[in-house]
Amino acid sequence: MKIYCWLICLIPFLCISNSSIGQVVLSQREVEQKVNVDRVMRNVNVLSSDSLMGRSLNNEGHTKAASFIASELKLMGVTPISNNYLQAVPLVRTYWNEVYLKTNSYTLTNFDGIIYNGNPIDEPVSKKLVFRGHVSPDSLELTGMSDCIVVLFIDNLWKDVNFLRSIKKSDAYGFIFVNPFNQKQYYSLERQLKEHYTRRRVHPRFRVDDDAYNMVSKLAGTTDIYLDVPRFMMPIDKLAKLFGVSERKLMKASESANFSDIPMPTVMLRSQRVVEPLETSNVIGVIPSATTGKRAIVVSAHYDHLGNAGALYAGADDNASGVAVVLELARLLKQIGYTPKHDIVFSFFGAEELGMLGSMAFVNYRKQISDSIVANINVDMIGRVDSLHTKRNGYLYLLGAGKYSVLGDAFSLADSLTTDIAIDYSLDNPNDIFGMFNLSDQRSFTAKSIPAVMVTSGLHNDYHTPRDTPNRLDYNQIKQRVVLLLNAIVIADKEYLQ
Ligand SMILES: [Zn+2]
Repeated sequence: MKIYCWLICLIPFLCISNSSIGQVVLSQREVEQKVNVDRVMRNVNVLSSDSLMGRSLNNEGHTKAASFIASELKLMGVTPISNNYLQAVPLVRTYWNEVYLKTNSYTLTNFDGIIYNGNPIDEPVSKKLVFRGHVSPDSLELTGMSDCIVVLFIDNLWKDVNFLRSIKKSDAYGFIFVNPFNQKQYYSLERQLKEHYTRRRVHPRFRVDDDAYNMVSKLAGTTDIYLDVPRFMMPIDKLAKLFGVSERKLMKASESANFSDIPMPTVMLRSQRVVEPLETSNVIGVIPSATTGKRAIVVSAHYDHLGNAGALYAGADDNASGVAVVLELARLLKQIGYTPKHDIVFSFFGAEELGMLGSMAFVNYRKQISDSIVANINVDMIGRVDSLHTKRNGYLYLLGAGKYSVLGDAFSLADSLTTDIAIDYSLDNPNDIFGMFNLSDQRSFTAKSIPAVMVTSGLHNDYHTPRDTPNRLDYNQIKQRVVLLLNAIVIADKEYLQ
């Protein structure tokens, strides 16, 4: 019985202003009747529920979310890209674990008396401390010191790298820099740098052909490990304890450049870098085109969120809403028996919150795949009404339309023919590298020169807080947005994309 209904709602529409383009759109009324808001709501609730634990990469809720999405796609009859709809995304997580510098009686650990910079030292080593005080680097010749850590006074701890580069000659194993002239400087560095250095970082374990990404990660890398040589910073009071002498004695030795009274204690040190393999999955299904064409439109939403850190970060808007909407689009297209001109690929990405890593894996997976993609429509946070819009009038932000006008035109035509909500272009600035357009998965596509747009209902005060809960979503607006998206996809597919 339903088969007949599908055919009725494929109403041919002839665009009068440009009769060379005949559009096939679905009438708003018919689509609205078919949008299953209860199902969208249920899916948002499932993804936001306690048992999905905020869907962060390190918890089982993340895996459950992927299986849930895959089971929904299966139920609809969307074609899987693998036997279980999953594309594995190999990642690696790195962080500093045990970092210390100690004598028999005194131990200092990272960000508690020392700041370590340099390559990992996986196994503990023991070295001699050699004090050289306040000295100009271009007069410093350190030879025969491969078993020593040389302790130096400098005027500015921020300039330690410059200092190292200016040293005339050195084969020292490592260095300790102390600024006794401004004691506060060390403690202020300890406070400022702690979060940055101790953060657990997740990196791709796959090849990334993205100049911008590689440049940024290289920069991040050089901040971490600027030079290979192990080097520490520490305050003078802690240094005095390592040497077992008074601060005054160290200052005096430095002033007179006479170090004969300063002992050379043996220290043990270690800077252990943990490298853990980590994995997420993209969930991918396809409605294949009738013409075995190899070209595809990717409709995407990320399913990961921030997990449960004391409180549940449900991520109902970010991005359970996007996942539920994209699932509903897939379900509707299957239900009306839509036969696309392009493959319509539904991609649900993992690890967006960690730097768009799921989508990055997707577009870098195989060149033939990325070459075949003609467009990406990415949905991220589509369930709310932001403070700039009233509840009475529907709206949706469209980003990327200015740059990728074909996609922009598909949306504006779809809107003028059906929903007539105000498409808001005010966030559309693809050239702003910190702008919203570059902060979600469409960025991975545009990095490969694939036209992409992002649709969103925008940011709000509950963004990335435990208050991003399902009860704050507006399902009347979501329904309208589904209608707009569905028609924009159909118009882009049939008429606007080659
Ligand atoms: Zn998001």
